[in-house]
Amino acid sequence: MDFHFSEEQQQFRMELRAWLKENLERPWIEELRDPKNDEKKLFDIRRNWQAKLNESGYLGIHWPKEWGGRGLTVVENAIFAAEAIHAPPIASRVGINLLGPALIHHATEEQRRRFIPKMLSGEEVWCQGFSEPDAGSDLAALRTRAELDGEDFRLEGQKVWTTFAPWSDWIFVLARTDPDDRYGGITFFLVSLHQEGIDVRPIRQITGESEFGEVFFSGALAKREHIVGAIGEGWKIAMTVLAYERGSMSLAHLARFDHYLKDLVDGVRENGSLQRADVREKIARLMVEKEVLRANGYRTLATLASGQAPGPEASLEKIFWSEYSRRLADGALDLLGLQAHLLVRSPHARPHMDWAQEALYSRAVTIYAGSSEIQRNIISKRILKLPSS
Ligand SMILES: Cc1cc2nc3c(=O)[nH]c(=O)nc-3n(C[C@H](O)[C@H](O)[C@H](O)COP(=O)(O)OP(=O)(O)OC[C@H]3O[C@@H](n4cnc5c(N)ncnc54)[C@H](O)[C@@H]3O)c2cc1C
Repeated sequence: MDFHFSEEQQQFRMELRAWLKENLERPWIEELRDPKNDEKKLFDIRRNWQAKLNESGYLGIHWPKEWGGRGLTVVENAIFAAEAIHAPPIASRVGINLLGPALIHHATEEQRRRFIPKMLSGEEVWCQGFSEPDAGSDLAALRTRAELDGEDFRLEGQKVWTTFAPWSDWIFVLARTDPDDRYGGITFFLVSLHQEGIDVRPIRQITGESEFGEVFFSGALAKREHIVGAIGEGWKIAMTVLAYERGSMSLAHLARFDHYLKDLVDGVRENGSLQRADVREKIARLMVEKEVLRANGYRTLATLASGQAPGPEASLEKIFWSEYSRRLADGALDLLGLQAHLLVRSPHARPHMDWAQEALYSRAVTIYAGSSEIQRNIISKRILKLPSS
């Protein structure tokens, strides 16, 4: 495998760097530290930043031009992820990273033209309505029903842990169209949140934010023209979404981890503990693991670059980046001492890194997109072909 970037790709990186220098007013961490920025304000900053990126062709970098993309490859997209780590995260992260690939693989031309450009511009923010109170790991146990009403459908049921639900305009929903067929009775709907019959309730997290919420459906309209794939094909489409969620973002995580690890090394140097052999050993282990993550990330990038969708091996990556995230944050709290435990708005917190927030949020990453236990089940059954009992 050739790990080097081509001249055109290097050129893309240089232009992007210059663009970021010109257009990024201040790093995201400063926005987070600004006491004037409440949750709503921070989300608006993300939306505005997304619009700016889109106007300059830095979103949907590897998507075809006819749907509003830039027509480059997944490699330029990965370069973008690595270069833009100090920028605000985009508002439509769920839409662009998860629904976008599903629309490209499975939607009709009309649906792509209707939904992708507004998803890119941030005009329509999306959330993912898969999990339910009794259907998380066992997603096929979902009970939200889509009942026929003339040509269209009406939704009844509840979703939970819906990231960005309080800020979103649309939701992609897995709903049951046949109660007797566990997998073949699920359909994938695109549903507007701005209508009667929908109630979104924020859930407060351990970090103090309400990044996610519950979504209740009581007779909400789900149009037939907004079904992705055929009726009963929802499970197959959901698997595309989950594979992208688990596997395709390692390199973006990696760019963050490079930055975090640098802060950790600076910190142990400053507090003098880098002299200790046990501390050096812990840091060395974190560095080596990060390089394993890089190699895995390149492997997925090569799969995507050859036009294939990520398969069950995405589970290997999901386990690795999510558990690494926890080891790194816990390691930093341990090695950096009290300064790392201070919350981001404290004047005494580390200036470039919010370790307390990172450690709290890292509890979630081994759960969302399928818990580590579920990823291990997938690896043992679908990659290693081990018997299930
Ligand atoms: C921050 C965050 C954001 C999220 N965002 C979204 C979102 O936007 N949209 C959405 O639809 N969902 C979202 N989720 C939900 C997420 O997908 C579920 O939490 C996850 O799939 C686990 O389901 P559960 O919470 O119901 O736990 P459960 O399925 O009840 O699992 C509980 C525990 O049992 C273990 N377990 C369950 N089954 C097995 C098994 N067969 N073998 C071994 N162990 C097992 C699990 O690993 C876990 O430790 C989000 C979750 C988090 C934490």
